[in-house]
Amino acid sequence: MADCIFCKIVEGKIPAAKIAESDHALAFADINPAAPVHALVIPKQHIATLNDVNDWAVMAPVFELAARVAREKGLVQSGWRAVINTGRDANQLVFHIHLHVLGGRQLSWPPG
Ligand code: AMP
Ligand code: ZN
Repeated sequence: MADCIFCKIVEGKIPAAKIAESDHALAFADINPAAPVHALVIPKQHIATLNDVNDWAVMAPVFELAARVAREKGLVQSGWRAVINTGRDANQLVFHIHLHVLGGRQLSWPPG
């Protein structure tokens, strides 16, 4: 999608610190990390929010790559969190589905 910053990262038109990639998903470092490990995992296909998913098969590669990133970052024993903010009340800022992989410190709950 033309004006989508994450589509531009998929297309290589703007730089990102790539962490891992599969056929249908891409993982890169969050530019403003909220934890020692903070990756974003996105479907390569543009989908704005979870409300817009038609074929849920598109999310399987996202979760698969997120689990791979967590494993490769050494988070399996300590634990990690997967977050997908959706819409206004969740403070979604970028309207291309992205799963936050957060770990490397004790995370608080409930979130703000
Ligand atoms: P959300 O509130 O879930 O939409 O989060 C958007 C996330 O994208 C934030 O954590 C930002 O720091 C992150 N972000 C925005 N632009 C970029 C970028 N160009 N590269 C990496 N992360 C980004
Ligand atoms: Zn996009």
